[in-house]
Amino acid sequence: MKCRQCKTELEIEFLDLGNAPPSNAYLRPEDLRKPEVTYPLRVLACSHCWLVQTEDYADSGELFTDTYAYFSSTSQGWLNHAADYCEMITERLQLNNDSFVVEIASNDGYLLKNFVNADIPCLGIEPTKSTAMAAKALGVPVRQEFFGEGFARQMVNAGERADLIIGNNVYAHVPDINDFTRGVASVLKENGVVTFEFPHLLRLIEQTQFDTVYHEHFSYLSLLAIQSIFAAAGLRAFDVEQLPTHGGSLRVYGCLETAAHAETPEVLRILTAEVSFGLKNPETYATFQSKADAVKDGLVRFLLDAKADGKSVAGYGAAAKGNTLMNYAGIRPDLMPFVCDAADAKIGQYLPASHIPILHPSTLYENRPDYLVILPWNIAPEIMKVNQALADKGTKFVVAVPEIKVI
Ligand SMILES: [Zn+2]
Repeated sequence: MKCRQCKTELEIEFLDLGNAPPSNAYLRPEDLRKPEVTYPLRVLACSHCWLVQTEDYADSGELFTDTYAYFSSTSQGWLNHAADYCEMITERLQLNNDSFVVEIASNDGYLLKNFVNADIPCLGIEPTKSTAMAAKALGVPVRQEFFGEGFARQMVNAGERADLIIGNNVYAHVPDINDFTRGVASVLKENGVVTFEFPHLLRLIEQTQFDTVYHEHFSYLSLLAIQSIFAAAGLRAFDVEQLPTHGGSLRVYGCLETAAHAETPEVLRILTAEVSFGLKNPETYATFQSKADAVKDGLVRFLLDAKADGKSVAGYGAAAKGNTLMNYAGIRPDLMPFVCDAADAKIGQYLPASHIPILHPSTLYENRPDYLVILPWNIAPEIMKVNQALADKGTKFVVAVPEIKVI
């Protein structure tokens, strides 16, 4: 396979998680008697532009079904993060009611509603119907589309150019990252700014966050890789911030190559940190599999020991991370009898492939486990706070990444 970005033949194997179902392919009770489709889940690194990427496989269109969607508004931490961002960027770019803000993958309007409330004109672009409808109900203008160069051309032809384009946790999910980035470049005003937030590859490797790997997550990004991607589309990065979200993210500020924005010292600082960490060294990528395997083994050992000791275990958070972890570790309901999740749409369904039932969080109080394994470790403090009453009665919280730990 050739690199999706620079077309170099991909020779560095980063991670092989075997075969896995699409991470959002939750099963209804009647689906349990049907065959399930799984796809190879392999990740390769490019030795030229350092883009880490999932291997291509057939029928990728099947992954984007409309039956279930993540609603960003279910996380209070994420809502606060979005509100803080809107306040900061409005001040920094001096946005006002003559400005135009575009968010790609605007989800349920959790972020743009802040601009609506501030009377700053905005537009969300969101392919998933259920979340787009929720945003419209909040008064957020939304177009139900996938963003790319084709859609960008329609916007430009309609005279729509943006002072600010926002892409939070969408950039890594775009199959054709060059087409997407060219689209962004064409919609930006002369001095317009794009901000992308994405999990930082450096943290993924450092913290062995291999459970953030799933098919819909096509790219694992560093600033090094972003520079190549941006350059190919006529953009440049002029600032970057490190964020604690999703286990350690970057927020990259981009603009047209010809724009007036001066480059801040942070750009060079992060690039230097990436190089000294080893992101230009093939060995850094090639040794990741054994680190991931050690995390997986630690979880399996913990669950086997808990079972042997007669301790009860449950999981919390039926999201993509948990699916990757359960499936790679081969965990089934004998070791993890159920997981709880607050999202109504998932309750009563089953995790794909592992067939672990998803139950209402109240189950934890009726049937209190000795250990609660928090699968989305990035929001563990939030989940622990909500479930403090369990801890008061003796339940111990556990996270599996970057290593198995009873908190
Ligand atoms: Zn490449």
